[in-house]
Amino acid sequence: MRDAGADEQSSASEAGSSREGAMEEPVGARPSVVIVGAGFGGLRVARGLSPAPVDVTILDRHNYHTFVPLLYQVATAGLEPEEIAQPIRRILRGVPNVRFRLNTVMVVDLDRRAVITDAGEVRYDYLVLAAGSTTSYFGLDSLAQVTSALRDLDDAERLRDQVLGAFEAASAEEDPSRRRQLMTLIVVGGGPTGVELAGALAELRRQVLPHDYPDMDLSWARILLLEATDRILPGMPKALQGKAQAKLSELGVEIRFGAPVANADADGVTLRGGETISAGAVMWVAGMRAPPLADAVPTAKDSAGRLVVAETLHLPSHPEVYAIGDMAHVGDPETRPHPMLAPVAIQQAALVAENILRSLAGKRPKRFVYRDRGTMVTIGRNTAVAHIFGLRLSGFIAWLIWLTVHLVWLIGFRNRMLVLVNWAWNYLTYDRGVRLIRRASSRQHVSNGDEEAP
Ligand SMILES: Cc1cc2nc3c(=O)[nH]c(=O)nc-3n(C[C@H](O)[C@H](O)[C@H](O)COP(=O)(O)OP(=O)(O)OC[C@H]3O[C@@H](n4cnc5c(N)ncnc54)[C@H](O)[C@@H]3O)c2cc1C
Repeated sequence: MRDAGADEQSSASEAGSSREGAMEEPVGARPSVVIVGAGFGGLRVARGLSPAPVDVTILDRHNYHTFVPLLYQVATAGLEPEEIAQPIRRILRGVPNVRFRLNTVMVVDLDRRAVITDAGEVRYDYLVLAAGSTTSYFGLDSLAQVTSALRDLDDAERLRDQVLGAFEAASAEEDPSRRRQLMTLIVVGGGPTGVELAGALAELRRQVLPHDYPDMDLSWARILLLEATDRILPGMPKALQGKAQAKLSELGVEIRFGAPVANADADGVTLRGGETISAGAVMWVAGMRAPPLADAVPTAKDSAGRLVVAETLHLPSHPEVYAIGDMAHVGDPETRPHPMLAPVAIQQAALVAENILRSLAGKRPKRFVYRDRGTMVTIGRNTAVAHIFGLRLSGFIAWLIWLTVHLVWLIGFRNRMLVLVNWAWNYLTYDRGVRLIRRASSRQHVSNGDEEAP
């Protein structure tokens, strides 16, 4: 990757002083910084610039920030959607130089230094692209129609509806083979999200559903975790992968390795070898890629559509435009990117705020160095695996650390309290209080082959 040298430096400094083209939005005489996305990265940039002499506009398609790591708990009826979301305006309350706009950004015009949104154009002196990621179907885009993803609150609620809807349909089904089918849940992808989701579904089946459906034989219910490779939790030490696998098996999750999904329809999935598996719900958590907005930025991308940025986190040809978090690939696109994790986005955001201030002060930008403090994954009640600060932890201790970190990390005191109360309730009562089916269309996933009566 090319060095962030003097040429980059001077153009970055120019960016700060360029006030060409009257801005449509009324801003003061100070440089304007536009941030796209109020996720982990975008909010951290805004905070880093809060004491600075710049006007910051943060744009997001939602008026709330989502705490994505707990989405799977919404999907499995453990938490309410509102408990893991926080209004962006509340988060930014009391930060005088930052304002929020509820806009979806559709195009970035690098030459005119403008972003085109669903409500018009916003001009910038500096732009920070932090729009996260979207589900990747690895070219099998038709799967989006028949599987449930898990990337935002809508997905989580839809997934919950689909799982609970499948059991409702099973309870009314006379035909034993269709009943078995409806009670089969498939999770595709053995990464952290797939493991957490499969574990939570297994607990739902064991601890909650038998009380809801006393007349159903829940031993028919299956949870299958399909993984294309020969291991779950890639990136974790082998010993921890083994512990996670053992715990999932203990919970009754069937793990199938070397099982790449080639197709799916309303009746289940087809593996690449031709085997079909019938199911009541198929959950696709096999991969992520850059969000649609990345396609609308005319610059180099990697194979997952992420914007390739210099080590100082700006686009090589536009030093006034930064990309961070899930949508950025730092350095050579042929090398392995940083993992799509919140700490990566947060650390990059802190550096971007600093580099914008350095640019304004005429200083050279700094390079990004990721400080990896580790990862952790919870598998179920009292069990997690954690590889943190070089330590390999599993079981109850890892689970307690996981709980504490996620609680502290969650934004907002009210949300922390609500989540804590819900967790305590679920733990003590073995219950999941949020078993609501909100969308009628989710009530039956499996096609019955007959035309529906009008
Ligand atoms: C199910 C799941 C579980 C995860 N669990 C963990 C975990 O336990 N630990 C961990 O470290 N990481 C976890 N991650 C990864 C982590 O959530 C991401 O790496 C992190 O959110 C990336 O931060 P970001 O700022 O790049 O994007 P995000 O936090 O995703 O924020 C992107 C923001 O951009 C907005 N946006 C997108 N497109 C537009 C547009 N066109 N216009 C306007 N706004 C737009 C979105 O609404 C969103 O608010 C998980 C991810 C998933 C999907």
